[in-house]
Amino acid sequence: MRIYKVGGAVRDRLLGIPVTDIDWVVVGATTEEMLAKGFRPVGADFPVFLHPKSGEEYALARTERKSGRGYGGFTFHASPEVTLEEDLIRRDLTINAMAEDDQQNLIDPYHGQRDLEARLLRHVSPAFAEDPLRVLRVARFAARYAALGFTVAPETLELMRQLSESGELEALTPERSWKEISRALMEDQPQVFIEVLRACGALKVLMPEVDALFGVPQPPAHHPEIDTGAHTLSVLEQAALHKQPLTVRWACLLHDLGKGLTPEEEWPRHIAHEFKGLKLIKAVNERFKAPRDCQELAMLVGEYHTHGHRALELKPSTLLELLQSFDVYRRPQRFEEFIAACEMDARGREGLEERSYPQADYLRGASTAARTVAVQPLLEKGFKGPELGEAIKRERLKALKAYKEQV
Ligand code: ATP
Ligand code: MG
Repeated sequence: MRIYKVGGAVRDRLLGIPVTDIDWVVVGATTEEMLAKGFRPVGADFPVFLHPKSGEEYALARTERKSGRGYGGFTFHASPEVTLEEDLIRRDLTINAMAEDDQQNLIDPYHGQRDLEARLLRHVSPAFAEDPLRVLRVARFAARYAALGFTVAPETLELMRQLSESGELEALTPERSWKEISRALMEDQPQVFIEVLRACGALKVLMPEVDALFGVPQPPAHHPEIDTGAHTLSVLEQAALHKQPLTVRWACLLHDLGKGLTPEEEWPRHIAHEFKGLKLIKAVNERFKAPRDCQELAMLVGEYHTHGHRALELKPSTLLELLQSFDVYRRPQRFEEFIAACEMDARGREGLEERSYPQADYLRGASTAARTVAVQPLLEKGFKGPELGEAIKRERLKALKAYKEQV
């Protein structure tokens, strides 16, 4: 049996990027031989094993054939006769279809190195079109390697467009899509992920609510960039620049969906877009079965982001309602994430990226003021049940009034 390093590990070594996980391909072996060497099988469908010591993935060289819709619709064929070249040709991109033997000799039948140098994300073969997930993968790699100057090859973008139009994207499971989306959002330039999806027509299929924001104007006084889609991309870009977590990035992407519903006669104003957007945010959340913390933050940021911007003008009672809506007493971290998303929204505007955002500290101070109201003295005074709740609320309101006067 011959063992080769493949995929991302080869690609990233050539790019001079630290390699974290290594994928291996095994040529000329059977499942029985692998098991006899102590490899542990993973999954029922693929001939993939984990190394007994390193835990790294070793896959038997395989060919595959499309046999139905979506990702389930594949038949795999792994046998000792399958060659390395046959295994590599079923891979998505040329830069991912290189292998390396134990002497660090490069095996590169599909010219991955040439495309690495040309900074091109190019599909290996027409079989690319057999798995719609590759549309998302290419967009994710575009986001990851944008800083190095990579772009999607025009012919690959064309294939992605055909895939998007074919209806195959709808066959993706929420789990597979979310895995790609969430990884892409955590890349350094997540806005490129959205741009590439839009360029090939996949955004319209996957997230029509986000796609609809392009071409929708906003008031230039607050939004020098005017276009709501462009603004959304900038907010996402700011979120990545400021190393925000996934929850915040997801909320940033979805915060303005309501603006896509505004009738043209009302443009460039978007009255009550926060509230109108909620059903769209909910629909996108559910479509991809986003994790609960992402879902919740996206809904809260959608509803309250303009409250965040107006923080310094809010009456103490409104401020209190805001804090209650976030259950800031039990979930202070979530409120921090809300503040971060608001700040990214404020900075994701042309020419305003470096602006100060005093609202952030103001909201933090308000949260602290409300949270430091002690319950014990009220219990000692004999309050209980709903009356206790009311008394706490009164004290918190008092604290917020004092806070507002003192700032
Ligand atoms: P990462 O750095 O994100 O791990 P990677 O290229 O190693 O990038 P993996 O998802 O670990 O990506 O997959 C390993 C390799 O398997 C890829 O480089 C590619 O050759 C191949 N591959 C994975 N998923 C697909 C797919 N859906 N279609 C085609 N080839 C794929
Ligand atoms: Mg990998």
